[in-house]
Amino acid sequence: MSAIYDFSGKVALITGSSSGIGAATALLLAKSGANVVITGRNADNVSKVCEECTKLSPKGLKALPVVADVTKEADLDRLLDTTIKTFGKLDILVNNAGFGSFSQISDAEYLKTQRSVFETNLNSVIYLTHKSIQYLKKTKGNIINISSVAGIQSAKGMSGYCMSKAALDMFTKCIAVDLGSKGIRVNSVNPGAVRTNILRDMPVTDEQTNAIWDAMSSIYPVGRCGESVDIANAVAYLASDQASFVTGTILVADGGHLAANVNSGFD
Ligand code: NDP
Repeated sequence: MSAIYDFSGKVALITGSSSGIGAATALLLAKSGANVVITGRNADNVSKVCEECTKLSPKGLKALPVVADVTKEADLDRLLDTTIKTFGKLDILVNNAGFGSFSQISDAEYLKTQRSVFETNLNSVIYLTHKSIQYLKKTKGNIINISSVAGIQSAKGMSGYCMSKAALDMFTKCIAVDLGSKGIRVNSVNPGAVRTNILRDMPVTDEQTNAIWDAMSSIYPVGRCGESVDIANAVAYLASDQASFVTGTILVADGGHLAANVNSGFD
């Protein structure tokens, strides 16, 4: 992982940074000089990622740990308040926390599952974005939402996930238009399959999980699944001044999967 961007003096809050794509993004931004806020529900993972960020930081900047559940507004308020109290400002907000779920419309738990997916993947983003605008206006900061190719292409048994990400994409575009005059850019990165812990709460064994990633790798034009750092690199670009004229964009990072128009059944 090389630091090609300079985020010195910037403050970045990355939700879902206790694991996977969020953790890789936090590490890259820390390595590139930013003060980072690490958050998730799992306190051990939050503190482990904080330690790694501090080690990678060129000036040994201490990452800020905040254990929080994004589905709870009080937690999101505390997350933002702690960030501002500690660092005095916010430059970059990465709305990354999310989870995938399988459920058919005929399932007994269908509605409960859909509500939970929407609460985490969409409503939390709307809330945190709304609350952050007052700070991002001052820094001419920017927002990156982590969506999915599932927001663009349907996937079997994943209606809730796909709908939440499709709505998130429209939120990104609308809010980019609304916030343009305030100097705030808003963009999205839409990953294809990335080897993370995203399947851990799904009814699949470790063996099946590995088989899924291998199957993806075999159909992706680049011959492999994504790694978290692939997505972190896309986030870093959008967060940087090099993307100063880029807003309202949906940046697909999927190894050519959508371009190849292959329906994998899982995204
Ligand atoms: P991981 O499961 O590795 O990471 C998910 C992160 O989100 C964890 O840090 C987790 O923290 C956090 N999180 C989940 N729910 C909550 C919650 N209620 N409150 C606070 N934090 C929460 O998965 P990924 O890194 O893969 O997922 C990151 C994003 O990338 C998601 O939005 C996902 O939809 C998207 N994505 C992933 C793809 C993939 O193939 N991996 C493909 C396309 C998009 P904790 O467990 O500590 O609460």
